[in-house]
Amino acid sequence: MMTSKIVRAHTQVAVPDPRRALDVLSAFYRDNDCSVSIEGDDHVISISLGTVRVGPRDRAIGIEITAANDTAITQLKTGVITMVDQLVPGADLDCRWHGAGQASEKGGKLPNFRELSVGKVTNLGPDMRRLRLYGDDLTPYLGGAIHVRLIIPPHGVSAPQWPTMGENGLPVWPKGEDKVEPRVYTIRQINADEGWMDIDFVVHGDNGPGSRFANNAVPGQLVGVTGPIGSDLPVVDWYLFAADETGIPAICRYLEDLPDDKTGHVILEVSGPDAKQNLPHHPGFDLAWIFRDGSCPEMAFAPQGTNTNVDADADAGAGAGAGDDVSPFARAICDIKVPDETHGVFCWTATEQKIYRHLHTHFRKTLKLGREQCLVMTFWRAEAH
Ligand SMILES: Cc1cc2nc3c(=O)[nH]c(=O)nc-3n(C[C@H](O)[C@H](O)[C@H](O)COP(=O)(O)OP(=O)(O)OC[C@H]3O[C@@H](n4cnc5c(N)ncnc54)[C@H](O)[C@@H]3O)c2cc1C
Repeated sequence: MMTSKIVRAHTQVAVPDPRRALDVLSAFYRDNDCSVSIEGDDHVISISLGTVRVGPRDRAIGIEITAANDTAITQLKTGVITMVDQLVPGADLDCRWHGAGQASEKGGKLPNFRELSVGKVTNLGPDMRRLRLYGDDLTPYLGGAIHVRLIIPPHGVSAPQWPTMGENGLPVWPKGEDKVEPRVYTIRQINADEGWMDIDFVVHGDNGPGSRFANNAVPGQLVGVTGPIGSDLPVVDWYLFAADETGIPAICRYLEDLPDDKTGHVILEVSGPDAKQNLPHHPGFDLAWIFRDGSCPEMAFAPQGTNTNVDADADAGAGAGAGDDVSPFARAICDIKVPDETHGVFCWTATEQKIYRHLHTHFRKTLKLGREQCLVMTFWRAEAH
């Protein structure tokens, strides 16, 4: 019988009020849709990468993390220490981890760090651009987790400095003129044998490091990558995928991978008719487009090949949870009838933060879907980081 390996690491962080720290951390993770259970004095937080057990110590909190491999352990270390840093005033972050993930020793590289070089640049429409990025040994990026953290060098720098791991699990970021910026993207396609991955960037101007990098990319430019991040789609019968441009690469990957007997809807919001893309054909899914510019000749869903548009000005139906002040995109998503099956459905949405809030209320509170039935995500925020 196969047994899956579990690896562990632990540390202790000095804090002024351990029980208050536990409450604040648990509240944060609960708000972000993670399950938190109380076991004696310990709070046990389950997240997609693994489990975080936090317990009170003498003027400190003890943190134990478990996960399937060293990469996930290293990502969990970074995630949990980042949250302690942000949420627990007075926490002494000068801590040291014991156990798994020792590749993250001081000065080591970030998990699966690779330096990538821009190859071919392809425009996919008025506001999306595909960069083919070449690098050595991309095998860790094959598989179920399809997102990555790109590390964007300062504009115009040809020999960037890359971050390293600190002993406390936090990356040590280059400063000043060497400052690099992490941004999350999706691997649209990957070929590890040939050593490349394609990333489709929304190009919204030179107003953010990710977009500016794509906007100005020329072959030979360098960018870092670490990860991968994310989790597999659950296996169900019916799926709803809804996203603006930022989620199109992920939805394309899902449509390519899902077996032909699965069914569902895809609903996409883009700037206008020129921004429509050719999505992989899946016989069980239909597809609708919503245009932010208001041009909308047709209405409702059609078989996938026909790329029908939803009328953004029409009353898309105030589905459960839809209010008057929400966008046509959000209204159209909320108007979709989710089949009345407890376990056979999965709704996946990737949008701007304000729409996320509305959709989260709709799926989790109005439709009462469980965490295993929906993943409602913010992919970007309509203000600077
Ligand atoms: C799991 C995951 C996967 C993602 N995959 C992709 C992907 O494959 N392709 C992709 O393009 N994005 C993807 N995103 C979204 C991407 O991470 C954000 O859009 C990110 O903010 C872009 O960084 P930036 O440096 O361009 O802009 P930022 O520095 O974040 O922001 C600068 C300014 O640009 C605005 N801005 C940021 N993003 C957008 C946008 N999409 N449209 C309009 N204005 C924007 C901000 O509001 C801000 O005013 C993904 C996000 C997540 C969480």
